[in-house]
Parts: sequence; C-alpha cells; structure tokens
Amino acid sequence: MNKFRKILALSASLAASASLHAAPVPADAYSIVADLTTEVGQRLAGTDREAAARDWAVARLKALGFAKVHVETFPIPGWERGEEKAMITAPVPQKLAVTALGHSGATPAGGVSGELVYFPTLDALKSAPDGSLKGKIAFVDHAFKPAQDGAGYGPFGQPRRIGPIIAAQKGAAALLIRSAGTDHTRDPHTGVTNAPKDGAPLPAGAVSGTDADLVARLAAKGQVMRVAVTLTPRFTGTVTSGNVIADLPGKDPSLAPILVGCHLDSWDLGTGAIDDASGCAIVTAAALQASKDGQLARSIRVLWAGSEEIGGFGGQDYAKVHAKEPHALVMESDSGADRVYATEMAFAPADKVLADKLAAALAQMGITQSLGHPEGGEDVGYTAVSQKTAVIDLKQDATRYFDWHHTPSDTLERIDPVQLQQNVDAWALVLKILGNETKAITKLP
Ligand SMILES: [Zn+2]
Repeated sequence: MNKFRKILALSASLAASASLHAAPVPADAYSIVADLTTEVGQRLAGTDREAAARDWAVARLKALGFAKVHVETFPIPGWERGEEKAMITAPVPQKLAVTALGHSGATPAGGVSGELVYFPTLDALKSAPDGSLKGKIAFVDHAFKPAQDGAGYGPFGQPRRIGPIIAAQKGAAALLIRSAGTDHTRDPHTGVTNAPKDGAPLPAGAVSGTDADLVARLAAKGQVMRVAVTLTPRFTGTVTSGNVIADLPGKDPSLAPILVGCHLDSWDLGTGAIDDASGCAIVTAAALQASKDGQLARSIRVLWAGSEEIGGFGGQDYAKVHAKEPHALVMESDSGADRVYATEMAFAPADKVLADKLAAALAQMGITQSLGHPEGGEDVGYTAVSQKTAVIDLKQDATRYFDWHHTPSDTLERIDPVQLQQNVDAWALVLKILGNETKAITKLP
C-alpha cells in the first residue's frame, strides 16, 4: 500500500470506528466473540482478567437489552502460571514446547532433571510398580484422534486429569504428557488436573503434539533419555470468581424460564475464542434472535458462568443459589463455534409432542436427532440434575475443536463466522419454539 492510499484507508477506518461508537451495540454472535477477545482477552478463573470480563459482560448484556443483569460471586482456589521450560538433554539435546497443567505443583526454581521413562498409555503407567519411578520423570503418550463428536477427549484426557496422581504414587519427580489434543503443532494444551487427596500436587506439564512425536521416536530407539523440567506455577489462596446472569423476560411470569449457559472464564494461553466466548455469543445472540419478532411467552435466562475450566465452580454455585427457583429446561454451548450437526433431547414422556416438534424443525436445517441422553454440561448440568429439568443438547462438529482447545491458538482466527451463525440459527429456532410453549414442561422421571 502506498503512502496516499494508506492515509485514505486510515481516515476511512477512523470514520468507521467513530460511527461504530454512535451505533447501537451489534447483536450478532461474531461481534460478541470479537469484542470479548479483543477488549478483554484471556480470562483465567479468579484473576483480574476474569473480573474485567464480568464487568465487560454486564455492560454488553445491558446494552443488548437484557434485564436484571447482575453478578453473583463465589470463592475459588487461585492458581497462576510461572516459568515453564523443558528440554531433552540426552541422547540428543532437544527443546520441548511445554505448559503447566492447571493446578499443577511446582518444581524447585532451578527445575528437576532425571531419566525420562516413556509410557505409551496411561494404563502402562498404572501398571508400573509403586515407587519404581523414584527420581525419574514419567512421560505418558496416547492416541487422541479427531472425530466429529470429540469422543476421544473423555479417555485421552485422562492422562491430564489423573496422570499426576498416578505418577506420584510411582515416585516420579514430575510428569510430562502428550497434550490432550489432536494437532501436530508446537502449541501445548493446558487444562486442569485433579487434586490429590493428600499432599502437594506433582509438577505436571503437557508438551506439544510435535514434541510428543519426537519423544515417541526417541523412545522407539531404546536409548536412555534424560530431561530437564522447570515449572513454577503457584496457588494464590482463596480468590473471587463469579457468574454473570441476565434475563429476557417473557410475557407470562408464571412460566418457568429456560436456562441457557456458557462459560466466561478461559485458559490463559489464548484468548478463549472457541472456549468459550463463542458459546456465550451463541446463546446470547440466539436469545435475542428468537425474540426479535415479539416478546416470548416464557423467559430466557442467560448464564455466563465463571470458573468452569478449573472445576465447574460457576455451574455448581448457580445450582445452589437458585435451587428454589424452578427452571423449565436447560441448554449449554461449550464445544467451539463449528456447526450444529445433531441434537440430543431429554424430555419427560408427557412432552413428546413438543420434542417431536423441535426435532422436525431442526431436521429442516439438516440437523438430525441422535439418541444419547444429554445432561447439559458443567455450567447448567448441576441445575438439570438437582431439578430434574428437561435438557436439549445441540451437538457441534468437534473435528477441529481439539486442535486448538486450551492452546495459545484459541483466538478469534479460529472462528468461522458462517458456522457460528448456523449455531445461532439452530439455537434461535429451538428457543422460539420453547419460548412460546405455554404448557408447563414436565420434570424428568
Ligand atoms: Zn469450555
């Protein structure tokens, strides 16, 4: 671009931003994801950035016309990342891209080094004798492959969730795992690890897919491997997190509301665009789209939950605080921004007509019904279980999701605006039918 055209472009963009300020807040999902990830960025649970995100959310939901917009706070254990580096020192020096798992323990400031013992699976680590890894660093590999329903995340997320506890039983000084992801890039995937019943958590990190491939190739050569690891995260005591709650009131306040949830917190490596700014954008834009031709009979409540990533604290707090208020049905969006391809519904037999009507409407969008039993997710599932509410899950294509999930690359560039809007259209279709259902929705048996 030459200088003159540069000036023209600059003045055009200035004019555009000036007029944007005057314009009403855009109600589309992409604008919510773009603005949250740009104006706030990462939103690690319990940090100042999560608090900034709550302030941002309150302002945006009010500007979009929601009622009773408010924050409900709750305490959580605080944890922050420190220094993180890892290097194979023998048989050949090789740098590893590593990140600490959430709630990992810390190595000494100077790190730990020792023999790396390669386990192709978590079961292989489990079968090592207790105490056999004293002074050594365990490495657990696995075989997570992409799939539309993201089914691998359950089993192949286990090295991350319980690997550190098992490695500690075996006496290891630290644990490294292949990231719980489906990519072969240099981005490591973080994610929370379970707390041990007693004692300090083991230092535990995930290396990128590319580096895990390297470790596997070296292991196959059968030579002794040595590794040096420094991870210095720290627990910061009890800190404050919170849920942001907003209502689109229905015409008939006697009808129990529909609860639609997502989570506002994110991991700290990226900006949490697909996990889960997109979910909040989808449920919010869909609630507005469903009611744009007129007020619905039934209220829709939007829950942007806090602290989902570190243990579902927001969803648990919401279920506890709102235990006495009846909810008709719950839904959640937390699998990225790619298209909805199927639905799963849990309705009482008395609501078969409503369920069939919803399935028929979704079928018009090419969305098929599958026969799983949905339970919501971390943000709305606790309410669903305690109140036995009906549940609808709109299943998103997760083929690409675990390439970027919990990595530095979870940024706005991962969002496909066309697929994001398809989510909103599917959700709005469902919310409009539910919102205009004036018959009480029956509790599940
Ligand atoms: Zn999530």
